[in-house]
Amino acid sequence: MTEATLDYEVVVIGAGVAGIYQIKRLVDLGVNATVLDGNADLGGTWFKNRYPGARFDSESFTYGYSFSQEVLDEWHWTERFSPQPETLKYLNFVADKFDLKKHMQFNCLVEAMRFDEATDTWTLELADGRRLTTRWVVTALGLLSIPTTPTIEGMDSFTGQSFHPFDWPEDPVDLAGKRVAIIGTGATSIQIIPEVAKEAGHLTVFQRRPNWAAPLNNSPIDEAEMAAIRERYDDIFAACARTPGGFEHEPDRRGFYNVPAEKRRELWDRLYEGSGFGIWLQNFVEIFMDEDANAEFSEYIAERIRQRVDDPELAEKLIPKDHGFGIQRVPLETNYFETYNRDNVTLVDAAATPIERITPNGIRTSADEYEFDLIVYATGFDAFTGAFDHIEIEGVGGQKLRDKWADGPVTYLGMFVTGFPNMVMLAGPQIAATNFPRAVETSVDWATPLLEHAWEEGYTRLEATPEAEQAWFDHVVDMYKPFLLRSAKSWITGYNSNIEGHEYGKTRYNLYNGGGPKYGRRLTEVAQNDYEGLQFS
Ligand code: NAP
Repeated sequence: MTEATLDYEVVVIGAGVAGIYQIKRLVDLGVNATVLDGNADLGGTWFKNRYPGARFDSESFTYGYSFSQEVLDEWHWTERFSPQPETLKYLNFVADKFDLKKHMQFNCLVEAMRFDEATDTWTLELADGRRLTTRWVVTALGLLSIPTTPTIEGMDSFTGQSFHPFDWPEDPVDLAGKRVAIIGTGATSIQIIPEVAKEAGHLTVFQRRPNWAAPLNNSPIDEAEMAAIRERYDDIFAACARTPGGFEHEPDRRGFYNVPAEKRRELWDRLYEGSGFGIWLQNFVEIFMDEDANAEFSEYIAERIRQRVDDPELAEKLIPKDHGFGIQRVPLETNYFETYNRDNVTLVDAAATPIERITPNGIRTSADEYEFDLIVYATGFDAFTGAFDHIEIEGVGGQKLRDKWADGPVTYLGMFVTGFPNMVMLAGPQIAATNFPRAVETSVDWATPLLEHAWEEGYTRLEATPEAEQAWFDHVVDMYKPFLLRSAKSWITGYNSNIEGHEYGKTRYNLYNGGGPKYGRRLTEVAQNDYEGLQFS
């Protein structure tokens, strides 16, 4: 199928959850394809995030791939929310089972890709100096694969160890007796803090804004439970396909105001004692759309936090006052709030007393000077578009994708960008970013027949029309309007104080908020209507 002049018919960039499944589908079709990944091995997010406490917030059995009965039959998840080492083992198990590693090239960082209009091909420029040509590029870059650290004066002068959790060293970090600082209190930090506190001599958490968090309630899965899960796999994936978030958790549709206050509390008690994202996704939908409903539920969660933190003043500091529950991505936690009851843990309010500089020995705030052996910058990611911006992607007429997206991403279906032909994004901005593998299987299962269609018809070029792109963007914007998250100060709206231009209020529409089922229906419609919005030649 590949012309003699091309190195590959398809290059997939990224060997994480999405890239692994995409290469499986392409290999099954006998396509000359390869996966390029800048890391030393496969796994993406699960290869990189080795920090203590890193684990799924998704139930393991809803996170695994659904495409292979053999994998479903053979794999045993040992915990309801799998820890990072097990997940990485799982991804290797899948790749080895289908002998996919021979189609993957590691330590291959793509620095640039340029579209050649004369031949309808892409040339990829790798950091190792190689140039590769291909007809199609499928991006599987991850949503959160570019970590960001702040620029604080003196960072280079620190004489201890410091890193972002994304770069947590592979060799165990000896924390015993160490004075550790963690900057940031997002989902990552909320997983790390209880683990580090158990080992460190002293842990100091620098919190600028608190985050709402709720219990993960993890538990082991024994042989008998795993057997029962295997029996239920069809039902599990059917539920994931019909729920907006791609989980088994179904929203409570009785209506917030139809249910008396004491019954609402009964539901919330159940959800708080339950596990995973139930507290977010099995709740009344009004909580995420109506200020009053949100305020009532936020107060319920605040009460729970007050019950768990011994010092009332400290509890108040851990309760968000600037946004309601579920407006930002809800971190799930294990003993997070109780950790602040330990003698070896201190919370510093970095809003009241901002960090002024990093010193050779630690951190200076406007009020105090602290000494540390280790500083962890758990300060977030350049979400969605960061990984694209890191590659010089040059489309038609020399246009750069990072210029086109300077004020935020614009796509068709979250998978195509006008002016960048033959580039298909799995998990690009503006897809329904649900329980990740569920979203990814949807994208791959749709993109693969699309490519087959192009091959069958002999098309060498495929591009979204400007009208289709504009219409999708308008729809994406509309889907922000009903939800309170439209005003979130989080990566969902493109806010990241560590990136120039990503200011609060300057919304970047990163997500498709219509949910998985609606998104899937739109993809089906597009395919049935002869791939409307896409131009083939
Ligand atoms: P994040 O949610 O963006 O949090 C970054 C934190 O760093 C925030 O508390 C932020 O404070 C703080 N920060 C940033 N710059 C700072 C500065 N200069 N000074 C002080 N504080 C600063 O990032 P994240 O925790 O890495 O999480 C990102 C996403 O990764 C999550 O939302 C989630 O989707 C994903 N994740 C998933 C899992 C899982 O599935 N198990 C686990 C971890 C993460 P402000 O709020 O004030 O900006």
